[in-house]
Amino acid sequence: SNIPKIVILGAGYGGILTALKLQKQLNYNEADVTLVNKHDYHYITTHLHMPAAGTDNPENARVNISKLIDEFKIDFVKSTVVQIRTQDKKVILEDGTLSYDYLVIGLGGEPETFGIPGLAEHAMSIRSINSVRLIREHIEYQFARYKREPHRTDYLTFVVGGAGFTGIEFVGELADRIPQLCRAFDVDRSLVKLYNIEAAPSALPGFDPELVQYGMDVLTKKGVIFRIGTAIKECSPDGVIVGDGEEIRSKTVIWTGGIRGSRLIEEAGFETMRGRVKVDDYLRAPSHENIYIIGDNSLMFNEEGRPYPPTAQIAMQQGVTCAHNLVAAIRSQPLKTFAFSNKGTVASLGKGEGIGVAFGKKYLGRKAAWLKKLIDLRYLFIIGGIPLVLRKGKFF
Ligand code: FAD
Ligand code: NAD
Repeated sequence: SNIPKIVILGAGYGGILTALKLQKQLNYNEADVTLVNKHDYHYITTHLHMPAAGTDNPENARVNISKLIDEFKIDFVKSTVVQIRTQDKKVILEDGTLSYDYLVIGLGGEPETFGIPGLAEHAMSIRSINSVRLIREHIEYQFARYKREPHRTDYLTFVVGGAGFTGIEFVGELADRIPQLCRAFDVDRSLVKLYNIEAAPSALPGFDPELVQYGMDVLTKKGVIFRIGTAIKECSPDGVIVGDGEEIRSKTVIWTGGIRGSRLIEEAGFETMRGRVKVDDYLRAPSHENIYIIGDNSLMFNEEGRPYPPTAQIAMQQGVTCAHNLVAAIRSQPLKTFAFSNKGTVASLGKGEGIGVAFGKKYLGRKAAWLKKLIDLRYLFIIGGIPLVLRKGKFF
């Protein structure tokens, strides 16, 4: 048929928003839309620090894709993309092939290990439902092991590498969880060590210094041991080497030291920086008018020439513009340029605590924690309306 084929790779923040907007805006038989995702569920990445620490159930961080999209308008394919072939306008899946006229790449990020020896092999990272279930079980298992080998205090040492927002939110949750684990396993709290190790001269580099100080005070009171200005140099099954060669013995290293774009993008031949493609103002890849790249896979710069950090916020806004531009392209109408509207950043520090900047104001403590909940509920509402808010929303 002559109906243009749109294929969306990845049902994350960018991909889901693109799909939801397309299904609203496209007329009957105007385009064939296919959404491809590794799992049959969408995960709420911004919530993953909680199930990783064990302070919430992983079920609350995922939603079946069939509950979000209208399968009479969008074909959903549960499969893993293994190759993107731009010359043939084809996508190779683990179990088949798809052709496209327009392609949207929203495959999300991967942990960036900067080639640090042993990290890829021996550290865990917070990136999917599967990965957080592993982290949660692993942590519990260390407590159980310690009870069999009480001289092994390294079982009770937990290392979080990187004090960016992911690292900070995770140690906040884990610090809340440790006293519960100590009670459940009859372990003395003073034996448990939770390190957050950051290479830069400050935690949350670039964020408001007053809020950073507040956050570190809250977390230190909860028992987090910060090692700031200290880089992780190596990781092994026995722990990490930091700074000038100091060893921290631990069986649990969680790497939150940064993310890069999907490997599939550079393998497809796009020019990338840390796996991300610098897209044009319409979100298209250079020299590929029919390929849109959004979310953690895309790279865009602000007026000062600094790259926007890869966030769910920008991925969602890109999804909206991307859908608009796909519809416009099909109708031979002018495309819209993407303009990021920064609503701010709010981070949780565990139960009832947080820090954030929103609407040009600073928030801390309980107010910031509430704001974070509100942002989470708003997202559920955007993708799934009131029913999803009631099913997955956490109000307290
Ligand atoms: P993703 O949301 O990562 O989605 C990618 C999708 O592609 C996934 O569904 C994945 O399964 C699928 N996929 C990947 N590879 C393949 C393949 N080969 N084949 C098929 N499917 C594939 N940002 C904020 O703005 N606010 C926050 O509060 C916030 N909190 C965060 C908390 C944590 C713990 C983490 C880790 C990140 C947080 N972020 C936050 C960042 C945010 O989650 C990401 O920027 C956002 O998820 C990027 O969206 P995306 O659409 O690019 O990709
Ligand atoms: P990041 O890149 O923001 O932070 C990684 C941190 O690790 C940096 O502070 C870096 O200096 C440090 N680091 C790098 N190498 C190191 C080493 N060898 N040893 C010790 N420390 C090292 O990554 P992230 O925290 O995963 O965040 C990724 C993106 O997701 C960001 O854009 C962030 O804004 C976003 N995010 C937002 C929220 C929120 O808004 N609440 C929460 C999580 C993530």
